[in-house]
Amino acid sequence: MLRLEKPIESEVDEQRYQQWLAEHPDGVVVSLNRSRQGKLTVHRSTCSTISYNVKAAGQNRRSGRICFSDWRELSCLEPELKLGGLNHCTRCKPSQRLTNRCS
Ligand SMILES: [Zn+2]
Repeated sequence: MLRLEKPIESEVDEQRYQQWLAEHPDGVVVSLNRSRQGKLTVHRSTCSTISYNVKAAGQNRRSGRICFSDWRELSCLEPELKLGGLNHCTRCKPSQRLTNRCS
């Protein structure tokens, strides 16, 4: 798991994040900006909306992220993290769901 819970602003954090995405093609990423309904959004690690070059897009940071190796890890840690209900990104359409199973 990679926890970057504050907005990602520094070059160091951005590189850690991009490296993690590259190393976890089956990973699951929760973006820590809440929708108007108060939900966080979950993405596949390969989603273009979470990996684009922020500087090239004229931005200086991206929202915080918690990155999980897979759905099992997310499901296991959810009781502790209390992420609440999750929106599934409509672009990358993660097909799996949180489960109660942790093994
Ligand atoms: Zn997505």
